[in-house]
Amino acid sequence: MKNKVTIIGAGMVGSTIAYSLIMRDSAEEVAMVDVNEELVEAQVMDLQHAVPFTGQTEIKVGAYEDCADSRVAVITCGVSQKKGETRLDLVERNAQIIKQIVPLIFEQNPDIVLVMVTNPVDILTRLAIDLFPEKKDQIMGSGTILDSARFRHLIGREMNINPRSIHAYILGEHGDSEFPVWSMAQIGNMKMDSCEYLAEDKKEEIFSKAKNAAYAIIEGKQSTYYGIGSGASYLVHTILHDKKTVLPVSHLMTGAYGVKDVCLSMPVVIGRGGITKRICVELSTEEQKLLRHSAQVLNDVYKSI
Ligand code: NAD
Repeated sequence: MKNKVTIIGAGMVGSTIAYSLIMRDSAEEVAMVDVNEELVEAQVMDLQHAVPFTGQTEIKVGAYEDCADSRVAVITCGVSQKKGETRLDLVERNAQIIKQIVPLIFEQNPDIVLVMVTNPVDILTRLAIDLFPEKKDQIMGSGTILDSARFRHLIGREMNINPRSIHAYILGEHGDSEFPVWSMAQIGNMKMDSCEYLAEDKKEEIFSKAKNAAYAIIEGKQSTYYGIGSGASYLVHTILHDKKTVLPVSHLMTGAYGVKDVCLSMPVVIGRGGITKRICVELSTEEQKLLRHSAQVLNDVYKSI
């Protein structure tokens, strides 16, 4: 099977993921699907013109049938946050779309790995898993990969260290109840907490900026897409090339820390089949409390749909 990806939704996020895959020369083929035919035709044409500068990705307007020989399907369709809205405000509108399209994807290919990007990503990931419980390790949401990247960027900038040498996560909901895991944060392999590299008020400021970044970006330019475009394409690349990389994606919790039957982000190993391993993560008592709070928030929203 070739390294093919089908992206459902050719708006700002879907097209930026495709662009980032082209820049990585990661996929052999990318099919784009959207209800707006004029838009998807135009996006594909524009994206095709980026290919000669980078590699050989074949990019085309597609349909659900393209999932049949794709390794990964990425869902980015639906409505996005407007000024003043939280991600959870989108739930009713996007849940209806997800209920319709997830069966169309698995009907074509029961082995495909499904990456949810549409918000609220944790709720919609759980919805997809509730529709296909036997595929729980094949279904994941982009979760807090973006929030963690924002976090690492801000820590790196504050300390004048390359963010790639900062290992730090924001976990839980991709949204307002997410939390920073300072107890595990490392520079190289040195624990940040043990050396008190950052004062408490600086840590609070960094987390607040990371958590509220989407609101700030939406205020200025209506939507966010470069960060998630790069993050989601990295996740897809990891699946296509079986990288076995540890990433904080949204997935079904099965009891760790008393959290069960809810999707949120904790670090897991990602490879060709999807989630290839769940790993033991050491959280402080306070962080465990924040994790359970995040799970409660998500559970309450899920029950309301
Ligand atoms: P957008 O409006 O630019 O694009 C959405 C596209 O979905 C549109 O082109 C629309 O025609 C299409 N669409 C709607 N219903 C469809 C259907 N049934 N089938 C196929 N296509 C359909 O929005 P965007 O800025 O690209 O955002 C897309 C989603 O990604 C939003 O839910 C947004 O909140 C989310 N998002 C997630 C993250 C994250 O970190 N998870 C980050 C940014 C945005």
